[in-house]
Amino acid sequence: MIYEIVTVPARILRKQCRRISAADSLDLQALWQDMAETMEQARGIGLAAPQIDKGIRFLVAHDLESGQTRPFVNPEIVAVSEEEEVLSEGCLSIPGLRGDISRHLGIIMRYQDLEFNEHEDEFQGFFARVLQHEVDHLNGILIGDRAVGGLYEDTGEDDDEDGEGESVHDAGEQGQL
Ligand SMILES: [Zn+2]
Repeated sequence: MIYEIVTVPARILRKQCRRISAADSLDLQALWQDMAETMEQARGIGLAAPQIDKGIRFLVAHDLESGQTRPFVNPEIVAVSEEEEVLSEGCLSIPGLRGDISRHLGIIMRYQDLEFNEHEDEFQGFFARVLQHEVDHLNGILIGDRAVGGLYEDTGEDDDEDGEGESVHDAGEQGQL
């Protein structure tokens, strides 16, 4: 099943989402499959539950390196690398706009799988960026809140023509979050 993706200024996108547990009796297997399908159809590489109008701490993210789309239940970033990198990001909930966002290069995340087993793993590079973007969604934070110099129109072009300093690469070439 394909969900409709919620866009700004929907209030759900500003909500602090709630943790879920086995007691909620959610069909997480179905939710994961449907969200993965919705994300893929929208040419996205990450999708958080509030983006389909559900205020729960659940997200799916596509790891370009392994080619896998993975579900994360109650994800929580517990440690971050000091080193950060600025890349241009788009968001499926903010069509047509992008922002240059600084993200940690590495994170340690605590989360649960679909059976609510606890995990704590380290994530690096672009997948760590996707996870930071999606966890932000669960806390009602959008790219406009983090963008250095605000959001700008998505022209579909790489914007490092001035050749000044370090160029901002385009994370959007690889899909929207
Ligand atoms: Zn987003």
